[in-house]
Amino acid sequence: MAKKNYFKRALGALSAGALPQKCVACGQESFGGVFCLTCKVLAGETDHFSVERNQTLSRMTLRCELEFAAALGIFTKGGPYQSLLHKLKYRGVFTLGFKEGRRFGIKYMQMSTIPKADIIIPIPSHWRRKLKRGYNQAEIFAKGIERETKIPIRTDVLRTRLGIVSQTTKKREERMNRTYDRFLCVNPKGVAKKRVLLVDDVLTTGATAEAAITALNMKAIKKIQLGLLALAMN
Ligand SMILES: [Zn+2]
Repeated sequence: MAKKNYFKRALGALSAGALPQKCVACGQESFGGVFCLTCKVLAGETDHFSVERNQTLSRMTLRCELEFAAALGIFTKGGPYQSLLHKLKYRGVFTLGFKEGRRFGIKYMQMSTIPKADIIIPIPSHWRRKLKRGYNQAEIFAKGIERETKIPIRTDVLRTRLGIVSQTTKKREERMNRTYDRFLCVNPKGVAKKRVLLVDDVLTTGATAEAAITALNMKAIKKIQLGLLALAMN
């Protein structure tokens, strides 16, 4: 299976010691971290793991009810997280996503007020994009979380619907709704009565996360939590 192969490649590269030694934002010595000390200060640590009603949760409030939501960092134009996500997206540096996932996992496990999820579901990216890039960065981030939390990842539940119907044959109305019906739950039993940690790389408007949660069906699952690498600010 193609999916198995890309993880093999990704994990192979990880164990081969391909971890970044230089800061992803400025290229200075990072002493094994993703950012150097200066960029770490610039990137800022969010308070999302200690403050329940945080910025990530507020952005989702009108869209759906979440038990917990947190982003590791804040994505600003020209900021350190922009460099990180750019490298993750276009340059295939998956070790970064894995490393950040582990950092998320550690913070998540340190929280005492929030019950831990039963499963982790990374938001799928469109298969064509995945083919081109070779991997889904949300899945790599989720792998890092799994490593630290020992909570299993499920990739057999959520599928993307885009690409099934050709864009040119779609009616205008359908195109407008496409964010909303973007995902399909192909394994409802796999998530029934489960506490789910949904994972993605960046949260912008929250429409993608909402679409994924809608597909999972709030009534069937126990509780939904949202974990992100970064929260975008405009
Ligand atoms: Zn730096």
